Amino acid sequence: MKKIAILFILMVFVTLISCQQESYSTEKQDKRNYQAEHKKEPNTALVNAGVDEETDEGETSEQDTPNQSDQENDTAEQEDGLKVIDNPTSVELVVNKQRKLPDGYEPGDLVDANVPYHPSAGEGNPKRLLRQVAADALEELFQAAEADGLDLIAVSGYRSAQRQKQLYENSVAKNGQEHADKFSAKPGTSEHQTGLAMDVASAALVAVLEQSFIETDEGKWLEDNAHKYGFIIRYPEGKEEITGYGYEPWHLRYVGEEMATEIYQAQTTLEEYFGLYP
Ligand SMILES: [Zn+2]
Repeated sequence: MKKIAILFILMVFVTLISCQQESYSTEKQDKRNYQAEHKKEPNTALVNAGVDEETDEGETSEQDTPNQSDQENDTAEQEDGLKVIDNPTSVELVVNKQRKLPDGYEPGDLVDANVPYHPSAGEGNPKRLLRQVAADALEELFQAAEADGLDLIAVSGYRSAQRQKQLYENSVAKNGQEHADKFSAKPGTSEHQTGLAMDVASAALVAVLEQSFIETDEGKWLEDNAHKYGFIIRYPEGKEEITGYGYEPWHLRYVGEEMATEIYQAQTTLEEYFGLYP
């Protein structure tokens, strides 16, 4: 009888220990999962970053315009399902069709880059602007391209939320809501509003922002070299379902040299890099 009692106590004891181990290993697994998910995130706020949503035909969209002011809750999910990013000044931010900049966000360090601009971006035009760090990098990129005998021009950089709103509303009026939502970015969701994006073209190519840009020496050079100056081709070919945009060989986004090189080598996208693609 005594033996049975001891055996019973032992069994209970063993069961308890194994339960604890299980919960410990679940914890460890959770931690590992978390680390794997966040491995590449220098800043967890990036999860709430956003991508660039304007189409470079010059349209952008915003459906929630009249209510912008009541959507100021950082990182909160809005009624329309958009997340508001809380790190708008990070060069690593992700703005996309799911992730928007805080309402009214305007970069504090916008400057002209010392590069040739398209005639549509004349002196004083806000399209010439980039954040300082991106403008410096663009100048280096243009110098390197020129040294290789290429002829790049900058077409369109910074775009304010107000401008994006106008473009979107014009598109709705002209083409209808459905078309606008497909081809235009809503205000706050265009990467051009970050001051980190620039559309570039070959000076020789008359029709500026076209996929045929990739057929030019300038387009090919950018594809192979932009990362050395901290830029990525933000909307690569065949990644439309991930980025939300078709192939835009002309749209450069500054992310810094290290990240740009990793993304270039992995032939991936900003969304995939941060694990934002389901
Ligand atoms: Zn663009």
